[in-house]
Amino acid sequence: MSRSAHPAGPRYADVLPEGHYTPPPADLNALDARVWSRTVARDAEGVVTVGGIGVKQLAEEFGTPAYFLDEDDFRARCRAWRDAFGADADVFYAGKAFLSRAVVRWLHEEGLNLDVCSGGELATALAAGMPAERIALHGNNKSAEEITRAVEAGVGRIVLDSFQEIVRVAHIAERLGKRQRVQIRVTVGVEAHTHEFIATAHEDQKFGLPLAGGQAAEAVRRALKLDALELIGIHSHIGSQIFDTSGFEVAAHRVVKLLAEVRDEHGVELPEIDLGGGLGIAYTSDDDPREPREIAVALRDIVTRECAAAGLAVPRISVEPGRAIVGPTAFTLYEVGTIKELPGLRTYVSVDGGMSDNIRTALYDAEYSVALVSRTSTAEPMLSRVVGKHCESGDIVVRDAFLPADVAPGDLLAVPATGAYCRSMASNYNHALRPPVVAVRDGEARVIVRRETEEDLLRLDVG
Ligand SMILES: *Cc1c(COP(=O)(O)O)cnc(C)c1O
Repeated sequence: MSRSAHPAGPRYADVLPEGHYTPPPADLNALDARVWSRTVARDAEGVVTVGGIGVKQLAEEFGTPAYFLDEDDFRARCRAWRDAFGADADVFYAGKAFLSRAVVRWLHEEGLNLDVCSGGELATALAAGMPAERIALHGNNKSAEEITRAVEAGVGRIVLDSFQEIVRVAHIAERLGKRQRVQIRVTVGVEAHTHEFIATAHEDQKFGLPLAGGQAAEAVRRALKLDALELIGIHSHIGSQIFDTSGFEVAAHRVVKLLAEVRDEHGVELPEIDLGGGLGIAYTSDDDPREPREIAVALRDIVTRECAAAGLAVPRISVEPGRAIVGPTAFTLYEVGTIKELPGLRTYVSVDGGMSDNIRTALYDAEYSVALVSRTSTAEPMLSRVVGKHCESGDIVVRDAFLPADVAPGDLLAVPATGAYCRSMASNYNHALRPPVVAVRDGEARVIVRRETEEDLLRLDVG
């Protein structure tokens, strides 16, 4: 990417630290298809539309801030993942990215399975009719109650994450007179190329049992001894927002090595391998994610090659994309409230939401794009920082963005690619009311998660 001086003046380059200066796009009104969901476009008046409905109409009807989810795009992504991996593999959508009953129904209809990692997510999945055998339960500290509900419901797998849990799940299954299908989550010592706090496969972390040093092999040994457990495979999740498959290559190599050791020691070939999620999406035009088909071919090739080398039959593969399915399908719509120009620095544009509806910028230094969506503009690009309304100077939505210099209170801004880890991580900080999620499809918009009200807040506050 070129990082040259901006034609509108070198002052833009001066503000940003070295290496962080990206010149503004040639046309601020253009919508990069990479970061916007499939049905997003501008109409003849220059208003951005999704599913055929303009954002001004959406803002009037549903208020701001709000998340608008492009249902066609969501379903198309589900099908792309399912078709890419085919009938001899399983795609589990990671519910923690964003879960609601409508989403569960879409997943069910499009033939995907579902990962949950809490009692609340399990309840949502079951309430919306996801067949239990298509649900996997994750987590490094599942409560006895969560395990009990999962075993009772008959979930397809529980991913075991500690020595205590092996025994705990076995006891509960035994008590309920069931044999529970389980996988063991291992850490393979791979650090995915991404921000430290969202990389999870290096060994110094809370998830999984390390392959190195033999803890993973010991977990297999213990699980195989327990009649109430049916050990179906090994699970590895190496990180988040990953753009190349080399990390998966190392992970598959090491997991297959464990499968071979298990065969040698116990005479058992475990039939499944789960390679986790973590596939990246485009938050800005600089990101270039791979298509599901490319990823599927690469992962299958890796596993096939490793198994051939180890003399093992190729196990059934599963993957767990969360962000890669829901992330690109939604944008957050905000209204501009105040604008503060700091001469020689930049312009702060305040919107009516912030870190309560998108914590990722503050938490991970995540990068986002932003566009003026209620109209077009021919004004020159202005280096801006889009900030929220919370009492925290780190309350930043988009750290460095170019907006047209005539942006004004009342304008609508949209931040694309907020479908994953925004509503699901939303908070009530400053007693903010968490925004609604509105699904849009074929000229129709419907609320799938309603906006919180002050009554909702006061209901929990029992005085
Ligand atoms: C978070 C998580 C995922 C999904 O990660 P994405 O980055 O959203 O694809 C998949 N599997 C496990 C075990 C996870 O913890």
